Parts: sequence; structure tokens; C-alpha cells
Amino acid sequence: MKLLAALFAALALIGALATAQKAASEDPVVAAYRDLVAKDLRLATIGYHLASGSAAYCRNRWRNPGWVLHDERQYPDLGVARRAFTFRQPVSIAALVEGGPAKRAGLAAGDGLFGADGNVVWYGPAPKTHQPSSDRIDGLREEFATRLSEGRPVAFKFDTATGRRDILLDPPEVCASDFWVDVRAKRDAGADGERVRVTSGLVDYVLDDDELAAVVAHELAHNLLDHRPRINAAKSGKTKVIKATEAEADRLSVWLMANAGYDPEAAISFWQRYGKATGLGIFSAPTHYRWQTRVAMLREEIDRMASLPAVNGRREPPLLAAHRAEQ
Ligand SMILES: [Zn+2]
Repeated sequence: MKLLAALFAALALIGALATAQKAASEDPVVAAYRDLVAKDLRLATIGYHLASGSAAYCRNRWRNPGWVLHDERQYPDLGVARRAFTFRQPVSIAALVEGGPAKRAGLAAGDGLFGADGNVVWYGPAPKTHQPSSDRIDGLREEFATRLSEGRPVAFKFDTATGRRDILLDPPEVCASDFWVDVRAKRDAGADGERVRVTSGLVDYVLDDDELAAVVAHELAHNLLDHRPRINAAKSGKTKVIKATEAEADRLSVWLMANAGYDPEAAISFWQRYGKATGLGIFSAPTHYRWQTRVAMLREEIDRMASLPAVNGRREPPLLAAHRAEQ
């Protein structure tokens, strides 16, 4: 939960600033909360497309409903959260991926999670004072991922605009990763094996969805190729291992982008612009390649990919094929 501490700090700061300008017609804290959800949806949507575009080739897969859930308890200011969003239950849908399984099942933003598989979600007594925490929603996310992993349709109970309804969700398997926006101005991104994290500063920096897809595809590649356990298992020469995983993530990223309908050339234009502008940031450490080397590597990989025939617009990424064969 350490990562969320930064989010709380940032949102609390926005809250303090907003109290000072309460006269403004549009509450800036409400606007900041809504902007965060809009960014989360943008990231979730790009992540979903990347994960479903290469679903057939991934060894690591899960069933993603294509929703952004939020817990009113995760916001520093409960009153503002309730003004900014509809919460039909303390944990509700913040936003839905267009065309995703949850959206197609008829769910809408504001619909509140009441239970699953006949069990009522345990919300517990409300604390006397509001303490922001993500424990509850993290626990639920894990529980639902486990239920969905059994491969059968799961009956979710939701409070909707038209009353309490049972919604049967049976999402297709896609490449396994979750995605979340880390509220920080620093341009940064990361992957912990299960989730891809992109800072709001980096979301604001990219020119378009293709560029954001380049960043997300690189981080997603780390998760799909199990780089985290490989780095952890390395007894010596960690720097070399990390450098190798960085090169793999770059190479796989352009295949993931193309399979999802994003322009792989955006990976080159993004890293070029980013490298020239900063020369620092995510890729400054000695474990990472210089941006000129990365761009040359991406060029080579895009050319190699373009020389192979596509089936229904998709190509099997060699790194994912090798990863499947590893078992
Ligand atoms: Zn990386």
C-alpha cells in the first residue's frame, strides 16, 4: 500500500489548495478526482486492448472484466468523493472500458458491488473518522480475480440505477496484468509482475494514445515475460539481467502494440522525444540502455516484424512463443 501513500498525499494537497479557493464555481478537488478516474480509464482501456490483442500468445492469462473499480475509502476526502461520483455501494464501478465484457453486460459507472456468487460483500462498520485506505478494494480485486480464474461465469450482484441485479460475467482470457495511475508529477512507469503503474505526470506528457500504448506495452511486457522473478532469482550479475530484460521489454512492446492496432512507430517517436527532452527519468539508471540504442533496437524489431506475414492483422511475438515453450 506504500505506492498509494503518494496518491493520498497528492490528493490531500489538492484538497488543501482547494479549500483556499472555495469561491470558485467548479470545485477543483471534485475536478481532480474526476480527472484521476478519466486517466485510470484511459490507461485501463489501452491496457485492455494490448492484453486482448495478444491473448492467444500469452502464457500468463487472466479474465479481465474491463472495469475500473473504486472504493470511496480510497479517497482522502469522503465528502468530495461522494460529490464527484455516484457510489451505489461503498465499492462501485468508476468507469468501464468501451466494448469490454462488463460494459457489454449492461453495467454502468456508479453501479455498486453488493456481492458475488451469492455472497454479500463484507463492508464492515464505517470507521468513526475517515481514514483513506486501499486495503479493502485490493482484497476484493484479488478475490474476484481468483473466482474468475476458475473459468466459469461468475454472478456479480450490483446495485444499479434500476435496482439490485445479478449480472453474469464470463470475460474471455486476456494477457494477465492490471493497470493503475500513480498520482505523481514525476514521469515514471513500472511493473511489479502483476500490475502496470504509470504516473499521472507521464500520462499528461504523452502526445496521444499510441505513445501511451508504447509505455504501457513496455511495462506489460515485463509482466508477461516474468521478468520480476527472473531478476529476483539472479544471484549475481543483476545489472546484466536487468539490462537484458529491458531489451526484451522493448522488443516485445512493438509486437503487442501492432497486435492491438496501435502504431508501433509511436514507440520510436516517443522514446526519441522523451530521451532528447530528459536523458533521465525511467531510463537513466546504469541498468538501462541509452535512448539512442533503444531507438535503434526498436527500429530493427519493427522491420523484422513487418517482414513477417500477419494473420488477421496479428503476428505471434517470438518472445512470447519462447516464454510459452519454457515450461
Ligand atoms: Zn523496463
